[in-house]
Amino acid sequence: MKVIVCVKQVPDMTEARMDKEKKTIIREGVPSIINPYDIHAVEEALKIKDKKGGSVIALSMGIPSVAWMLRQLIAMGVDSGILLTDKAFAGSDTLATSYILSKAIRKIGDFDIIICGKQTIDGDTAQVGPGLAEKLGIPHITNVVEIKEAEKDYIVCKRAVEKGWEVVKSPVPVLITVEKNINIPRFPNIVGIMNMKNAKIETWNAGNINVDYRYAGLKGSPTKVIKTFIPETKVAAEVITGTVDYQVEKMMAIFDKLHINIKNESNSHINESGQINEANHISGTNHIRERNSVKADRHVNIPAFKNGVSVLNDVFASSSALSDVSELGDICALNGDFSTSNNTFKGLDNTFEFFPNYEVIRDNEIVKDKHEGIWVFTEIDGRTVAKVSLELISKAGELASKLNTEVSAVLLGYDVENIAQTLLSYGADNVYLVDHPSLHDFNDEIYSKIMIELATRYKPDIFLLGATVRGRSLAPRIASALNTGLTADCTQLDIDSEKRILLQTRPAFGGDLMATIICPDSRPQMATVRPGVFEVNQPCIFEHGVFGIGRDIGQAEDKANKEQSENKMSKSQGENKVSKDQAGSKINEDQAQAGGETAIPETTRPKITKTIKHKIIKPKIAILPGKIEILEYIEDTTESFNITEAEVIVAAGRGMGKKENLKLVEELASLIGGEVGASRAIVEAGWIDRSHQVGQSGNTVSPKLYIVCGISGAVQHMVGLKSPGVIIAINKDVNAPIMKAANYAFVGDAIEILAALIKALKQ
Ligand SMILES: Cc1cc2nc3c(=O)[nH]c(=O)nc-3n(C[C@H](O)[C@H](O)[C@H](O)COP(=O)(O)OP(=O)(O)OC[C@H]3O[C@@H](n4cnc5c(N)ncnc54)[C@H](O)[C@@H]3O)c2cc1C
Repeated sequence: MKVIVCVKQVPDMTEARMDKEKKTIIREGVPSIINPYDIHAVEEALKIKDKKGGSVIALSMGIPSVAWMLRQLIAMGVDSGILLTDKAFAGSDTLATSYILSKAIRKIGDFDIIICGKQTIDGDTAQVGPGLAEKLGIPHITNVVEIKEAEKDYIVCKRAVEKGWEVVKSPVPVLITVEKNINIPRFPNIVGIMNMKNAKIETWNAGNINVDYRYAGLKGSPTKVIKTFIPETKVAAEVITGTVDYQVEKMMAIFDKLHINIKNESNSHINESGQINEANHISGTNHIRERNSVKADRHVNIPAFKNGVSVLNDVFASSSALSDVSELGDICALNGDFSTSNNTFKGLDNTFEFFPNYEVIRDNEIVKDKHEGIWVFTEIDGRTVAKVSLELISKAGELASKLNTEVSAVLLGYDVENIAQTLLSYGADNVYLVDHPSLHDFNDEIYSKIMIELATRYKPDIFLLGATVRGRSLAPRIASALNTGLTADCTQLDIDSEKRILLQTRPAFGGDLMATIICPDSRPQMATVRPGVFEVNQPCIFEHGVFGIGRDIGQAEDKANKEQSENKMSKSQGENKVSKDQAGSKINEDQAQAGGETAIPETTRPKITKTIKHKIIKPKIAILPGKIEILEYIEDTTESFNITEAEVIVAAGRGMGKKENLKLVEELASLIGGEVGASRAIVEAGWIDRSHQVGQSGNTVSPKLYIVCGISGAVQHMVGLKSPGVIIAINKDVNAPIMKAANYAFVGDAIEILAALIKALKQ
């Protein structure tokens, strides 16, 4: 089998620091490493080669010195390396990268499997894999934790999804992205080390792979960073120093003040003398969760891959601030490649019959005239709407008010008309409903084709998706097909009212910096948002055909009222119209005209602040069978754990020193009835399961009490705290950012303080 692995050299994020004056990342002295996820992709490719024979090609885009990284992969057993390097590639965002990689892969020719790491640690967007698959017109499977079978014609993979795993079968060629827990990468072998020196690393520039310069690099990236800023943190209300005993006394007083109930039946990890019992294992308790069926996530450090190459003085440095923070979108790859007959790929024959004509959207005039409204992709969780979709509909309502436009939910599924009603009640003005038996289960391939078709046909101005496994798989594929910008994991969304564009804010890479990104010239403006970032509106009440909604749509209401008075409201099927009676109340127009049941008595009627035209639109669309089959769904049966709902969280960071010390955090959480949270640093280190992680790439939480032990408070961690209530930080460094965000900042050794506190609480 012929396997291509896409690998990226990234700065070692653990070493990256920020220049707070200049608001830029300090790159000097930051070593470069192979993206940790990619090394697992390489291992998986080598395992396939070991079993089935064939060859493995490592493909990378980067500066000339990246050739050294490719040589190291040859030492592991990779057969050849190809480096794409050209000044024209500088500043490429995820979509430009997908485009450039797709051109290189077309030049490579026939292949069976492309393997990418799930995401890179600098951008964390997970967009290149699906974006690249779309550019090549092949199926993709993200978040793979196991390749069960890799045969000549097909592949069977197990992928992690939100509440379990799916076993998925796809024909080859296919692209997969892998999680880090899929394998333990091998070390270079002697033969490999001997080969690496003399191995030829091919270097291709833009001309070699026929790249259209308009769609590569900064020029080809539709999303622009317009602002970077340091989020405001308040100065700690109280800094507590002094002896451990004094600090414990103080902490107990705070618990008292907050009415924290102490539960004494906790599983003790502290012995009589206040030391940690080494024999107690932290797993298997109520508080620290390990997902069954999946090996604990582990971080494999291969020192050989830290080659210390500085990225500072190279062609990519100039643009990296942009690509780092935004993971921008786009370039148009659709310059005829897909429809031409010189397509050399196996199995691509039918791929594009569904959407033969892509519209290349690069013209402002076209954009302004044709694109309208805010779309939200509806995710279904079991038989109900996933909360993240309601959060997005609620936020979209606020944005729509500023644009005087409508919110449309896009709903795909089977027998889901009742869900359409729910979406309307939460504030969607329209629901685009595609209801079909083949949409019963989420399927990236079929769903993305339909979404692309709908977006091409109806032209939304803004398109929001949840940054869930599904959303992160769909969104880049859609953005890639529509040639538009996509910003991952936004924590704030707003509208520039003057320019009428979406302001998308997310943490910038590796520092205490936020970046606001826009997509001025391409449409739709696409963004993903993590669950829990926005509030859900109160649903309106649906009675007698009348919706009451708490959202004020300002100008939209005036416009709609005017329309009413002019009696111009359309009477399309499924539309409910609301009119205003003389007393200022609103009644259903159809009912009023029919002279039947009309206005709900004022006292019982929900508050109505807008005139609503709500519609369920059922587009006629051909649903072709997909090539990907979901063979099995395996539910995660480990004890349910929902950190997002926890009222009390005790969170641990690298300052806890080692995995064993997490017992202290676990025990305190148990004593005060809380859950255990974690920084990404300790998740990456393999100390704790990812489900505990708080932050940009973890969970968004809103506890009433957040006790933070040995966590620095990097912006990526802090954006995971939505209205955190009281923050108690324990940190050795009084200047750590967390100490400024905290209400109570305990300056000291978290291990000592926690051990003494637990002992005191138990007495
Ligand atoms: C794209 C991207 C997404 C990210 N997403 C997330 C995310 O979702 N969540 C997240 O947490 N991070 C995330 N990060 C990483 C983030 O930038 C930080 O690197 C990470 O939060 C640091 O973890 P930490 O505070 O535990 O470790 P460190 O930064 O190493 O901080 C350790 C802290 O412990 C203190 N300390 C040391 N010893 C002790 C002791 N004995 N007692 C008390 N204090 C002590 C130190 O003073 C320091 O403040 C992301 C990064 C990127 C680039």
